[in-house]
Parts: sequence; C-alpha cells; structure tokens
Amino acid sequence: LQDNYDVIIIGSGGAGLTSAIQAYELGLSPVILEKMDKIGGNTTRASSGMNAAETFVQLNHKIVDSFQAFYDETFVGGGKKNNPELLKFFTEHGALAIDWLEKHGIELDDLTITGGMKTMRTHRPSSMAPIGGYLVTELLKLVKKDQIPLFDKIKVDKLLMTDGKISGVITDKEKEIHAGAVILATGGFGAGKDLLEKYRNDLLKLKTTNQPGATGDGIKLAKAIGAKLVDMDQVQVHPTVQQDTSHAFLIGEAVRGEGAILVNKQGVRFVNELDTRKNVTKAIDDLGGTGAYLIFDTGIRKRVKAIEFYDHVGLVESGQNLLELADKVGFDPQTLQMTVDKWNFAVAKKDDLEFHRTTGMDRKIIQGPFFAIHIAPAVHYTMGGVAINPQTQVLNENNQVIKGLFAAGEVVGGLHGNNRIGGNSIAETVVFGRQAGQQVFKYLQ
Ligand code: ADP
Repeated sequence: LQDNYDVIIIGSGGAGLTSAIQAYELGLSPVILEKMDKIGGNTTRASSGMNAAETFVQLNHKIVDSFQAFYDETFVGGGKKNNPELLKFFTEHGALAIDWLEKHGIELDDLTITGGMKTMRTHRPSSMAPIGGYLVTELLKLVKKDQIPLFDKIKVDKLLMTDGKISGVITDKEKEIHAGAVILATGGFGAGKDLLEKYRNDLLKLKTTNQPGATGDGIKLAKAIGAKLVDMDQVQVHPTVQQDTSHAFLIGEAVRGEGAILVNKQGVRFVNELDTRKNVTKAIDDLGGTGAYLIFDTGIRKRVKAIEFYDHVGLVESGQNLLELADKVGFDPQTLQMTVDKWNFAVAKKDDLEFHRTTGMDRKIIQGPFFAIHIAPAVHYTMGGVAINPQTQVLNENNQVIKGLFAAGEVVGGLHGNNRIGGNSIAETVVFGRQAGQQVFKYLQ
C-alpha cells in the first residue's frame, strides 16, 4: 500500500470495481480498499440481472424499447419519488454500459423481466447464472489484468480534507493515504443495525439478505464532513427470501419472471407475483406472518440456473407431480391442483382475471417434477444515502459539491424513490461506476 494515489476507491462491489477500471483506462492510478476478507460486497449476491433500454441485446431478441419507457416504469415503481436528474442519466446510459461491458468481454446476452417492468430489459449471462457472481468475477479479471491495486481487510475510517477539498483517507490501521479524489462505493446499510434503528426501527426484527459488511460506512464518512443524506427511511424489503435456515437466501425475481407463482399456505394465489417488491411484500405480510410459497415446474427451473444452487443447499421441496408436492409441503392437493390449473388457463389466454398479472406468462406450470420454495420478506436494499448530482459528485447540506468526493452504487440515495426495481441495482453500479471514474478524471485535470 503506497502513501499516494490519484484516486482512492472505497469498496469492491460492482460500483467500486467499475469505477476503478474506468479511472485506470483514463490513465489514473486508482487503489481499491475493501474492509472485508471477501471481494464483491452485496453485488456478488445479486441474482436477476442488469436493466437497460435500447440495447443491441434487446434488438437481437427483437425487443424494441425506449429510454422513456424505462424512465417511466422506474418512476412509477419508485412511487414517483425518484430524483428525476439521476433517473434520466441512469436510464439514458444503461445501453452504453452494456456496450462497455461487452467490449470488456462481459456478455449479458440473455433477457428476463423483473417486477414492475413491462418489457424484457433485464440483461443476464446466457448461462443464466446469477448476475452478481458473474459480474464480480469478470470485473476482477480486468482489475488483475490492469494490475490495479486492491487490498482487502482495510477499512476506511475517515475522510481527510485539506483547504476545503478531499485529500485522502485514514484507515483502521491509522494509516493516512493521500489522493486528489475519493470514490465512495461502500454499498448500503441493510446489515447496519444502528442506522436501521435510527431510520426504520420497525424493520429491526427482520432478517437481511445483505452481507455483514453492509453497515452504511460510506454514509457516515460522508456525513461527518457535511454531506447531505436523502431518503434514509426508504428501505426495501424483498418479498421472496428463504429464511428457514440460519442464512437468508434471496430467491431471485427471475423465478417469478420466468413463470413461477406465489401461493399462501392453503395453496391459493393471492397477488400479482410481478407487481413491485413493495406491493408483493405487503401482500405476503397481509397473510399474517407465515410467509408464502413459490411454485414452479421443471420448464421454469431450467430457465433459472440459480435454482440448482437453492436446491443444492436444501431450500427446494419437490414432487414428481403436484399431488406429491402438495403432500410434502402440506397443501390440500386438490386446492393446489386447482390453483395451477387456473393459472395455466390464464397463461393460455394471456389473461390473469384474478390478479391482472401481465408479465412472466410465457410458460405454463406443467412439466414434472414440480417444486416449492418457502419464502418470506427480508431487508434487502437501502434506497437512501448520500446526495449526488448526475456527475456523481457528493453534495453538502446546501446542495454544493464537496470537492473531490464522488459516490456511486447503493451508498447513493435518490435514484430509486421509495422502491427499487429489480435489475436496477446492478445497472446503477455499472452506469454510475463508469461515470464516477470519468468525472474523477475530469476533476483531476
Ligand atoms: P455496490 O453494489 O454499491 O457496489 P456492494 O455492497 O456490492 O455495493 O459493495 C460495497 C463494498 O464496500 C462491500 O464489499 C463492503 O464491505 C465495502 N465497504 C463498506 N464500508 C467500507 C469501509 N469503511 N472501508 C472499506 N470497504 C468498505
């Protein structure tokens, strides 16, 4: 670890790795500092994909999309509380980010759909592997190739300011490292009990899908030097998390996107499974705290590679036919059969009379073996964080730029309004990670 770099990047998730590569490619010398012994943060846990509109991948699939539709659907999904400037930049730069990834050998050439979206714009690898692990592995290869220094088990405890500008950081080993700019890529606070207690006391009892290092450090570091925080009470609870073991496993939205349904403990549907996360969570909560079950067949299973993993760790119940499955899980067999028959009829007619679902209706639940996963909501993503402008510059309480401080990824607040759409978090790490790398370069000129 040297005493001086051009830019210090705090955090090694999607935002940190992308910004480091972008800064390096512009000729800067970046360093990435990661406090955990694992690289990749919550990004490694992301499962659905990366949203973007007007991409070459969509055209390859004969899907004609628009920036405006991407903007509008995200805005409605976010309760129209999204910061319009950030959302505009985000929706208009996703396609460039997909191009950039492709140029770097990172191919997301399959498409799926997530809750709240009307178009297939969730890009994922054609292996259908969960996006997060794939993205981090591939970005790390580039970091290694470029010999960008990356240190784990180094936690940043303080930001240094000199003459009103960022001048470096102090680590937990009390080492001062100097740099002309700092990028906060520290992620959110889904595992940060103190911040949750302060802003969302009501959620303290829930489990979280987050890695233990998601404690909101970047938010605290920035606040300590006067940064403005926005939307701190907007916390996303993910509706479908398997939590019957000691670990909370997020069951990705792709399972529903590819055709799974949700049923209550009687084996009856109760919601449009692809409504927004906020609404699906509320519908599950209204069942009275027993959670719900995802039901799907072998055809759907084949479309979502992650299910192999869920099965491998023992989260999936199976039955050769629906009766056997019902028996294992404890549904009345006839009720489950009726629910699935009704659903298959809705798929055939492309008309869900009961809950008006319109997406993820491309295949029936028909091919055995059949499967069930017990799920319940858990704390998943924190929409709030530091305020930035579209140049990723962190703002102070008076909306003025804090010189030399940039932020990208989940540490930032405002983009998602009161509900993040699935597939938008990976997208934001790449879109704003690239932007941060570019804007730091411009700032240091
Ligand atoms: P994003 O999706 O925004 O890139 P991630 O959660 O994937 O966010 O990654 C953020 C990373 O930042 C995590 O690996 C986390 O451990 C790391 N991190 C958080 N706080 C600090 C800190 N104070 N010093 C160094 N690394 C940190």
